[in-house]
Amino acid sequence: RARYQDGCWSDGELVPYGPLALDPAAKVLHYAQSCFEGMKAYRCGSGVGLFRPERNAQRMAHSARRLCMPPVPESLFLSAVETVVAHCANLIPGSSGESLYVRPFLMGTQPDLAVTASKAYEFYVIASPSEAYHPGNMRLWVEREDSRAAVGGTGDAKVGGNYAASLLSIAQLRERGYDQSLWLNPGNRHTVDELSGMNFFAVMDGVLHTPALNGSILEGITRDSILTLARDLGIEVHEREIDIDDLLALVASGTCSEAFACGTAAIVSPISELGDSEQRYRLAQAPGPVAQQLRAALLDIQEGRAEDRFGWMHMVQVA
Ligand code: PMP
Repeated sequence: RARYQDGCWSDGELVPYGPLALDPAAKVLHYAQSCFEGMKAYRCGSGVGLFRPERNAQRMAHSARRLCMPPVPESLFLSAVETVVAHCANLIPGSSGESLYVRPFLMGTQPDLAVTASKAYEFYVIASPSEAYHPGNMRLWVEREDSRAAVGGTGDAKVGGNYAASLLSIAQLRERGYDQSLWLNPGNRHTVDELSGMNFFAVMDGVLHTPALNGSILEGITRDSILTLARDLGIEVHEREIDIDDLLALVASGTCSEAFACGTAAIVSPISELGDSEQRYRLAQAPGPVAQQLRAALLDIQEGRAEDRFGWMHMVQVA
């Protein structure tokens, strides 16, 4: 935990897990001045490794600036995360896909109801063992009503408000017979953006397609890694606008044979259906070969079975 007051960050300190003392008027509670990260530490060979943590530090700095918060210096971010991972390393389970999920969080704590940026902040990092989360074959509800992000809003930042805006759609998934919401671009309402916590990919005639970054999509670190791995494996990749109705027609005709989502929590997870209350379109291959190949390639690096050719693993000194 570290605090920001009078224009500077304190050194971080390791404190026992427990409830926070927050003033009921703390800005974060009323105006959602909060941002966070999601990252994982894996058993990597004989050590423990964080996956691309400097990218999380940079994305959190971007999120912080968007909400008028003082970015956590990269050195403080990394040392806090490393301290927590080293402390919790014995909690990381041993099977493939299992990891320690790490959640750095930054919020404005000043007790003041004026709609202005806080003058005081708290940054902390919590962690929890994570099973090999594999949602299986996900059915995606094409969300044509609600938006998780707005044009000119905070879609490309990892801030609490984006997730608040997605909760109502998520709450209705089960009764609708779906597992995840597929969010459309809030500006045009007809191109694909992403899932609530994952980026979207589709395979058409062996070519990988993913929505181009557009200001409302979160720039996933897994997305970036998948693009790098796919190119490295000789898979053609296109980052472009994907019209939802074109996509559904290509799924119906079989041209789009597989689709998957990716993120820190879900790694690479296959999609089996896309649709709404009237029509469902089944992907021919779920899981498909491209998703399986990319998931294996990524986990092989994260767990130290393959050489870390892109310098992605950040090994943590564990006592
Ligand atoms: N989109 C959203 C909205 C997310 O919350 C996440 C999870 N951080 C992602 C995409 C995937 O990002 P990453 O690969 O960095 O976990």
